[in-house]
Amino acid sequence: MTKCKLEYLWLDGYQPTQSLRSKTRIVEDFSGNVEDAPMWGFDGSSTEQAPGGSSDCLLKPVFVCADPDRIGTGYLVMCEVLNHDGTAHVSNGRATIDDNDDDFWFGFEQEYTIWDPETNKPIGFPAEGYPGPQGPYYCSVGAGKAVGREIVEEHLEQCLEAGLNVEGINAEVMMGQWEFQIFAKGAAEAGDQIWVARYLLERTAEKYGLAINWHCKPVKGDWNGSGMHANFSNTLLRTANSKEVFEAVCQAFEPRIKQHIDVYGAENDQRLTGLHETQSIDKFSYGVSDRGASIRIPIFTVEHNWSGYLEDRRPASNADPYKVASVIIATVKTAKVG
Ligand code: ADP
Ligand code: MN
Ligand code: MN
Ligand code: MN
Repeated sequence: MTKCKLEYLWLDGYQPTQSLRSKTRIVEDFSGNVEDAPMWGFDGSSTEQAPGGSSDCLLKPVFVCADPDRIGTGYLVMCEVLNHDGTAHVSNGRATIDDNDDDFWFGFEQEYTIWDPETNKPIGFPAEGYPGPQGPYYCSVGAGKAVGREIVEEHLEQCLEAGLNVEGINAEVMMGQWEFQIFAKGAAEAGDQIWVARYLLERTAEKYGLAINWHCKPVKGDWNGSGMHANFSNTLLRTANSKEVFEAVCQAFEPRIKQHIDVYGAENDQRLTGLHETQSIDKFSYGVSDRGASIRIPIFTVEHNWSGYLEDRRPASNADPYKVASVIIATVKTAKVG
């Protein structure tokens, strides 16, 4: 008999941006399959998910992977939050996915800032004032430019050990700001993988006494914000061989700015200003290789005879990937093609 450690992860009820919570349950001889992870519960009055007088919320396991800090006996169990009567909790974004079409593939570019809780600034920033202006930090190497690499490397290793589909990492434009990319199929799977990767990142940084700041504009002024670019495709786009198909799909997004911005992250107006490689929050545009557009048509797509994918650059680093993927699927399905 083996005592296994299952770390149950869920999203709390904080507004406007939810945080991750987790706690450990010991289970004998766990198979590693999500169907064998038992339902569990927690005190919703401590997470802004229930009143104190009726505080029980339920945890429904939906995704399981290895826990890289407890190899052999440990698992991470991503959960949905349910009310005690078994209905989906209002904070449960995953349950609102009404079209989990696996024909849709997502590659999320999750940007974030490693944050020093002592100085309340990005790591590498001096206690007084600012580092030199942006320019040298993106994809940099060397002290004074790349800061926090040991954490980023450790997180990458953890994602790979957990079996997440991480595809790459890079240092970003602001000092202390980094990115990882994760690829998955379907809105639920893509969301599960991003949330578990976020959990691993916060837990890794915690070991160094550091935090992860998911805010989309953590440093005001002439410093890049953090996004979560959503690259997406379906069979239609992957096999289009047609500029017209790509234009029709892009145009389907135009009348639905509000539906998208509503779920693209809190305070995204601070980031989508038209500066720093963004389009304004109230405008919609698309273009080949255009990093100032709402949707960029990657050069890959053009070079593959207009077959490939699109990049919605608007989602913020603090957005819920379940909701982002869900609204993209819905909008693409309104496109008038053929
Ligand atoms: P950028 O040039 O915007 O920084 P990245 O290399 O960081 O681009 O990210 C590109 C993302 O596009 C990757 O996460 C990759 O998985 C994703 N991607 C590539 N092809 C597809 C596709 N056909 N469908 C969905 N996502 C894709
Ligand atoms: Mn990128
Ligand atoms: Mn980036
Ligand atoms: Mn991008």
